[in-house]
Amino acid sequence: MTRDEVIQAFDAIRVWHNGDRRAVHKPLLVLLALSRINASAQQTMDWNDAEPLLKELLEEFGPDGSATTRHYPFWHLRTDGLWKLDGPSTILNRPAGATPTLAELRQNHVRGGFADPVYAALKDDPELISIVAQRIVEAHFPETIRGDVLDTVGLSQIEYFYATKNLQRRRDPAFRAKVLLAYQYRCAVCGHDLRMGHQPIGLEAAHIKWFQANGPDDVPNGIAMCSLHHKVFDLGAFKILPESFVMVFSQHLNGSEAVSQRMLAHHRAGMILPQAKEYLPAPVNLEWHATQVFKKPVRPD
Ligand SMILES: [Zn+2]
Repeated sequence: MTRDEVIQAFDAIRVWHNGDRRAVHKPLLVLLALSRINASAQQTMDWNDAEPLLKELLEEFGPDGSATTRHYPFWHLRTDGLWKLDGPSTILNRPAGATPTLAELRQNHVRGGFADPVYAALKDDPELISIVAQRIVEAHFPETIRGDVLDTVGLSQIEYFYATKNLQRRRDPAFRAKVLLAYQYRCAVCGHDLRMGHQPIGLEAAHIKWFQANGPDDVPNGIAMCSLHHKVFDLGAFKILPESFVMVFSQHLNGSEAVSQRMLAHHRAGMILPQAKEYLPAPVNLEWHATQVFKKPVRPD
């Protein structure tokens, strides 16, 4: 396969969004397999080796509870034509819908990896690995956490080849300015409003429903946040209740006392509201974030 064919093949399975639910299983498995090729030219991996890593990735970057179905992509990616499995024929010859159980994959040491033509194209081409990995993280994760996803998967050393021009939707360049104005240039969580002259520092327009999940570039889908709150919001450390706009934090957030207390001082507090009603976060977007990004359980009060 040529480079273009490989890129097109991965793009073809890019339509991984399952309605409004985040479907990150396949992208995370593909990244893991790319990392294996990159590190050791390994084509296939034993399910027993892949499982703990996939579980960790899904727990950290997937929607709540997605780790319970961590074996699905290992089996189903074969249908996309990019993946192959090795193992006992009693398992491999099953119909695509008959997903083996976790125990069956473990006991039979089923191995999975990219199909031969894909592997052949990737194994001596680290730049192609980077391009494919970069396109995947761009398609599925907001900018705040792309680096973390690549670090965790073991691809942090790849050079970044920005391929945003190939994403089908373009961002509205005015989104940031509109959101910052709506919130009067301060973080809706902590009030951070540091400036150099007129230039806000470390202030960003967070998408509530991710751009990667077709969240719109309009003010009711944006909240002005400082870099730190933007990042922990994208990681699911807190959610915002529709109607009351109260912030509720996750039990997963922790740190030394001084640091975590500063963050947790906002637990059950109201966010700083935008200057006009029409700018308020839309409940539908907050609900998407609460189910697809927020990491349960909620902290006790
Ligand atoms: Zn803040």
